[in-house]
Amino acid sequence: MKKGLLVSLSIATALSTASIATGVVTNTFWSPSVVQAAALGSVYVFDTKADVYNAPNGTITRSLPMGSGWQYFETQKDGSGTTWYRVGTSEWINDKQAVTSIQPGSVKAETGTVVVASTATVWTTPNLHKESPARTLPTGSNWKYFRTFKDSWGLTWYNVGGTEWVNSGEVTPSTQTDTGWYYPLTKGRGQFSAAQKFGWGRGSFHDGLDFGSYDFGSDRQIRAVHAGTVKFVGNPGIPELGNAIIVIHTYDGYDTIYQEFGVNMNDISVRVGQKVNAKQVIGYFDVGGWNGVATIDHLHFGVTKSDWRAAQSHAFSDDGTWIDPLSFLW
Ligand SMILES: [Zn+2]
Repeated sequence: MKKGLLVSLSIATALSTASIATGVVTNTFWSPSVVQAAALGSVYVFDTKADVYNAPNGTITRSLPMGSGWQYFETQKDGSGTTWYRVGTSEWINDKQAVTSIQPGSVKAETGTVVVASTATVWTTPNLHKESPARTLPTGSNWKYFRTFKDSWGLTWYNVGGTEWVNSGEVTPSTQTDTGWYYPLTKGRGQFSAAQKFGWGRGSFHDGLDFGSYDFGSDRQIRAVHAGTVKFVGNPGIPELGNAIIVIHTYDGYDTIYQEFGVNMNDISVRVGQKVNAKQVIGYFDVGGWNGVATIDHLHFGVTKSDWRAAQSHAFSDDGTWIDPLSFLW
């Protein structure tokens, strides 16, 4: 009878351990050969796997799956500061791959795209161990992610491949739910002269808003004014627009045009069909370059409800085709 009791305890232990791995990876194969002393707590695999060692810093015998939870019965800290958790008889995993500080289910197998706001440091694990970052991702770039992890400080980590993680302090999910309209240059609103503004301020009708280099400081990154999908990039063969333009169709139905700011495709960092968030970097304001028509000293931004190409035959026309950008940007 005593032996039978031990077996059922063992099963109960395995069941309660399995239930920790909420909806991610079900733990089915751990069956300790002897009943352990009372568990100290649960440890959770946040990495792609957790290697199981026969002793701290010993030999790897197998691995446990990402997202699984395990009861542990003993801990040890080695000379390098790594904490080891004994999860079975002669079975140890360590805090480079599993930790006690996260909640069951906090590693999720979900996919999407993140956009790098400034630069993003790539970590080999979620930043629980302060490991050296492996590399950085460039401003404005898009990355598909495969798993997410919420850490105890409230940061969301996105696994962008292999053991590469970036976090929500430096990237944002590409959701296109931001309904805002923003300035295309980081400094914000400039002092627009009459000649820069939309309308009749310079004798002829100006169908957009000119952002002058002197208004906006030294940051040359051009950011999407509103979320949408890139409709055209490059040289449209319309001399007045310059050699490099970007057209983004906003998800709420406007064509937005960025023109006269660039020399060639090197000044454009998005491609046709790409979805962009508001404020995502889309190009580079190449002040002093030659845009094919004039020396670059401003970015012309236009908004229309029409198709941007059809709207070209209404350039310089006060017929309602073009809309004052300052009615959006305030
Ligand atoms: Zn203009």
